[in-house]
This record gives sequence, structure tokens and C-alpha cells, in this order.
Amino acid sequence: MSGNSKNYDIVIAGGGMIGTSLALALAPLGIRVAVVEAVARKAATQPSFDDRSTALSRSTQRMFEAMGLWADIVAASTPIRGIHVSDKGRFGFSHIDAEEQGVEALGYVVINRVLGGVLQEALDNLQAIDVLCPARIVDIELAPDMATAVVAHVDGEQDELNCSLLVAADGANSAVREMMGITAQKSLYEQRAVIGNLLPERDIDNIAYERFTQQGPLAVLPVADRRAGFVWTVSEDDAERVMTLDDEQFLAELQQEFGYRLGVFSRVGKRASYPLVLSRALRLTATRSVLIGNSAHGLHPVSAQGFNLGMRDVAAIADCIAEAKALPGNFDPGTDNMLEQYANWRRADQQKLVRFTDSLVKLFGSERGPLRTLRNIGMLGFDLVPGVRSAFAKHTMGLAGRLPRLSRGVPLE
Ligand SMILES: Cc1cc2nc3c(=O)[nH]c(=O)nc-3n(C[C@H](O)[C@H](O)[C@H](O)COP(=O)(O)OP(=O)(O)OC[C@H]3O[C@@H](n4cnc5c(N)ncnc54)[C@H](O)[C@@H]3O)c2cc1C
Repeated sequence: MSGNSKNYDIVIAGGGMIGTSLALALAPLGIRVAVVEAVARKAATQPSFDDRSTALSRSTQRMFEAMGLWADIVAASTPIRGIHVSDKGRFGFSHIDAEEQGVEALGYVVINRVLGGVLQEALDNLQAIDVLCPARIVDIELAPDMATAVVAHVDGEQDELNCSLLVAADGANSAVREMMGITAQKSLYEQRAVIGNLLPERDIDNIAYERFTQQGPLAVLPVADRRAGFVWTVSEDDAERVMTLDDEQFLAELQQEFGYRLGVFSRVGKRASYPLVLSRALRLTATRSVLIGNSAHGLHPVSAQGFNLGMRDVAAIADCIAEAKALPGNFDPGTDNMLEQYANWRRADQQKLVRFTDSLVKLFGSERGPLRTLRNIGMLGFDLVPGVRSAFAKHTMGLAGRLPRLSRGVPLE
């Protein structure tokens, strides 16, 4: 192999939404960190920082506050002051209100590309973190005392990065996870999420709408300039047809699913579509390596939780690394004990959210009789029973369970 061999404390595979956030979270620890990212942030093909809009939960907000990044992120985001949940073809709806929950906003919507700009700028200002991009991890070796990542650059050169801990943040189809010997269980929803933005006739007024239709859920979110971002779930069989409709036909079909609560839709922007897959890694760690973000769990976007859940992985692993740093003696952030601590910390939250999201898709996506009845009761019960509603709101805000320092808004150092 040609190229260099370099030593780090932590190597992060994947500099998307989660990998970049982890690098920034670790910055105050003053440790040696490298991020390896395959696709340049501004490239049209960048798969993480793209045109999707992401709803940031309150626990994600607290993390970014603790990392000193929130002022820049909030300036580029739109607050959600209410969530409106309805079911096409049924009367009644549920409404979760920020004021009722005693918070200023239930979350904030940000375009991934815009969030990427803020995170990347912060990363560019940190001399201590090496970013190798575009470069891809093509092989790894995991030994009891050290992990090694083989990095291939676009010119064909290869480097070896040695580290105490290798963190896989390379997304749902994680190659590094496979190299770690960890299997992911995958189930296809046979649905696609079609995303884009449009102009509603009426002011969306900081309300996020979620509507369950026969094909699947449809979310309409407030974004900048009075526009609304949409995430429309369509069946895999119908996706190509929907994607190739002209703008007028597309808006007419979308309007039919959503109704006229926001008046007439117009001026739809560029559309993109994503296959929807539930993926769950069977383990979270291997020797000197861990999974975070989508490499550990890929969710249906129905509950707008994938990134937020991944950020709680970031908070937990960053906390474990900070604890290892505070121990006397040599700093070793990749011990079996530490990995076990991380896995124990994250298992319950991940499993709960995977189940919650999957059952929401199935409950609201099914046409079968008993489930349809359940879904009606579920919607009603959801709105009428304050305990259920506030438990749901707490979880979607990411405030349930034992919290790492960053999730509580406490800086690491
Ligand atoms: C339509 C849609 C809407 C969503 N809305 C929300 C929402 O409202 N709220 C929310 O919380 N979540 C939402 N999500 C989920 C969220 O987008 C993901 O959870 C999040 O992008 C995961 O980030 P990640 O960094 O783990 O993975 P990714 O975004 O997949 O990033 C992985 C990165 O790793 C890089 N990479 C891959 N392989 C290698 C390699 N071998 N070497 C180096 N680099 C590599 C890739 O180029 C990429 O940049 C949504 C998802 C979809 C599909």
C-alpha cells in the first residue's frame, strides 16, 4: 500500500449530518480526530446534506446549544409552534401545541444543505480536526489495541489511519458496519418518500402537518419564505409515475391527499425521492469500533426522528469519550468497558424508537379492518388522553430517558 500512516484517537467514517456533528461535539476535548467523507459537501450528489428538510427536536437543539452552534442554526431554521395530525377520510385531528407543552417551539425545521453549511464552516475553523474529503474508507482492521482504517483518495492514493476508536457514521447502507462484521436486519416498506417544497395559499403559521393517507403518511412542514417542505410517502409501484408528473398534475395529486387546510398549493420546487427501509444493526459495537446514526438504525421518516435519534447516539458516545479522557493514566477511548457502556446506554432508546416508528407506519398505513379501527381509536385516544399525548410529545422532542451531558445542554469541557 502507498501513502501515509497517521495516528488518531478517533476516526469517524462518514462526514454527513451525524459524523460531522460528532466531530464538532468532540472538539472541546482537544483530542486527535479525523473525519473521512466520500462526497464533497457542495457536490450535487452529497447524500446527507441535500434538499430534505429536517425537523430538529429540543434535545438536538440543546446539544447544538452546548456546542455553541445553535445561534447560527436557529437563524437558518423555522420554528414549529404546533403539530397537526390528521387521517385522510376521517373527521377529527390531533393537535400538539408548543405553549401547552410549556416550550417556545416543538422543534425547528432546517434544510439539510443549510445545516451542512453551518456545520462545515464550524469544522473548517477547527485546526485540530483533520477532514479527508473526498475520500472513502475501503478496508478496516480491528485489533485489541488499535483499529486501522484504509482510506482511498480520488487520485488512487491510499492512507492508513490508526486509532483507538473507529466510529461508523456512514449511513444506512454502511460499508464500515459490514467490515466490522455486524449484520443489519432490513425490511423494505415498499414505499418511497417524495420530497420538495411548495407555496401554500394560506400562511402555514409555523404548524407542522402530518396526514395519514391510504398510501402512507404525508408531512408538510413550515420552511423559510412562507414556503412549505413536504415529505410525501407513495407506494414503490406508484413512485415513478408520481415523480414524472408535470408540476401542475403533481400539485393536484398532492393537494387531493392533503386537502385545502392551507388553501391552494402552487410553485412546487425540485423533487427527489428516497426508498424507505427499516434497518437495525444487530449489534452496536465490535472491537474498537461503534455504530452511530443511520449506520445503527434507519427509520421511516414518519416520526421525523432519524437524525434526532442519531444525535442522541452522538451525545452518548461523546460522553463516554469525555469520561475516558477524564480518567487518570493513558487516554484510551476504545476499551471494551467503554463500548459496553455506550451500547447499554443506547440500546433501549434505539429499540423503542424503531418499534414506535415502525408501528406508527403499520398502524396508519394499513387498510385491514381491525387495524383501521385501532387507528381511529388511536387517533382519538392520542388526542384525548393527556398522558399519551404528552408522552408522545416528550419522546418526539427527545426529552425522555436518562440523558448524556450534551443532551442536557451541558458542554463537555
Ligand atoms: C425523506 C426523509 C426525511 C427525513 N426527515 C427527518 C426529520 O425531519 N427529522 C429527523 O430527525 N430525521 C429525518 N430523516 C432522517 C435523517 O435524514 C437521517 O437519520 C440522517 O441523515 C442520518 O445521518 P447519518 O449522518 O447517520 O447518515 P447519512 O446522512 O446517510 O450520511 C452518511 C455519510 O457517510 C458518507 N459515506 C458513506 N460511505 C462512506 C465510506 N465508505 N467512507 C467515507 N464516507 C462514507 C456518505 O457520503 C454520507 O455523507 C429523514 C430521512 C428521509 C429519507
